[in-house]
This record gives sequence, structure tokens and C-alpha cells, in this order.
Amino acid sequence: MDSTTNVLIVSAHAADFVWRSGGAIAKYVKQGANVHLVILSYGARGESNDLWNIEGQTLENVKAQRKAELEAAAKCLGVTNIEIWDYQDYHMRLDEERMERLVYKIRAVQPHIIITHGPRDAFNPDHEAVSKFVFDASVLSTSNGVRLEGTKTAKQAKIFGFEPHQSEISDFKPDVILDISEVYEQKKAAMECFKAQKHLIQYYGYKAELRGNHARRCSGNNDYKQAEAFSRFFPYVGCEFV
Ligand SMILES: [Zn+2]
Repeated sequence: MDSTTNVLIVSAHAADFVWRSGGAIAKYVKQGANVHLVILSYGARGESNDLWNIEGQTLENVKAQRKAELEAAAKCLGVTNIEIWDYQDYHMRLDEERMERLVYKIRAVQPHIIITHGPRDAFNPDHEAVSKFVFDASVLSTSNGVRLEGTKTAKQAKIFGFEPHQSEISDFKPDVILDISEVYEQKKAAMECFKAQKHLIQYYGYKAELRGNHARRCSGNNDYKQAEAFSRFFPYVGCEFV
């Protein structure tokens, strides 16, 4: 990966991109790829429980805090191309108009790689809806017959799914384990920006170590310390086994 690689990450809520792919993002940015981040909602209703314990809390305040947190986290990862679409979450409505907006975005970015939610995520209907939404938009973006003024038809991107929060309960098995050791400190700093979900910082710290163990065991490379796991939407295609 280098400056000719375009990457698009689509996150349902404010912090999903950090818990599940913060290391991958930091790595791609470090290697000079063009990384674009779309955050569909602040997760104000579904993923900001701690903030709602404050008396007199308002939706505007919650959104403002989540915005500040996610911007700080993105800075830690080095990603600067960020769009926040501010849709309502829990339950997220993803209609034709919103689909068209994402097709526009995909055609503008022309991603080689899309990273988003995997197809199953127990207890989180928004994540599952976004997974299907992104997949559908990516397919539409490749069709010449989907005519959108000023856009160029995209090539099919490789799509990778985040590891869900409840892996086993969501039937998740890693298809890809990505070493993130060299950028783990950046991911840790990004996770620590999320005061509204403090309990997750330790959880995703453990997860990075656990996947690091799998990375060592599967590869025999003992330099791997922390890792992130992903599913693949399509099989690997190439001229050799890698
Ligand atoms: Zn989420």
C-alpha cells in the first residue's frame, strides 16, 4: 500500500472505526494511503449510555461531546478526511436517498479497499444494517447503468468487515488478522479519547492482545504483538497463495 491506494472506512457510530479498525487506519495512513472516513452517526442514542447518566443531558450536548471525542481520536490515528453524516442512530434509517449519497462518495473516492461492519453483529441492528448498506452501495457504484451526474463508475473494492463486539455470539471467525504492533500506541491513544465508553478501552485492549496471540500462532512470526481481526466479503483473488 502507498499513495496510489484509496481506502474508505464506513463507521455506523462515533467510535466504531477506532475499536475495530484503529490500527488498520493508522497503518494505512502511515504508509501514505489516501484514507477517507465516513461516520454515519454520533451514536448518541445507542452508544453513549454514560453521557445520559448526567442530569439535564441533551441530545445536542451528547452529539457535541461525541464529535469532540471522535475528532481527537481521528487525529491520533492521523486521518484527516472525515465526513460525519449525522444520521439518527438506534434505529438507523438507510433509505434510497442515503444509498445514493454513499454511491456518490464511493465513486468520488474510488476505493481499492472498503472497511466497514461485518454482516452479523448480535445486539446491534445498526451495525448489521450498515454492513448491508455499504455492500449494496459498493455494488451499485460499479454499475454503469446507475447514472449519477458527474461521477465515474467505480471498480469493485475489496470489502473487509470489522470484528463485532460479541464475536462468538455473532458467529465471527477471522478471515484476516492484521498486525498492528507498530501503531498500537496510536490506537491506544485514540481509544482513550472516548470518555463516553470508558469500559470499552480495556475490552479492546484485551482483544488486540488476544488477536496478537493468534497472529503469532498462525504465522510463526513472534514480532507480532497486537492485531485486529476482520472478515472478508469476497474470497482472496491473486496469482499465488499469500
Ligand atoms: Zn456502533
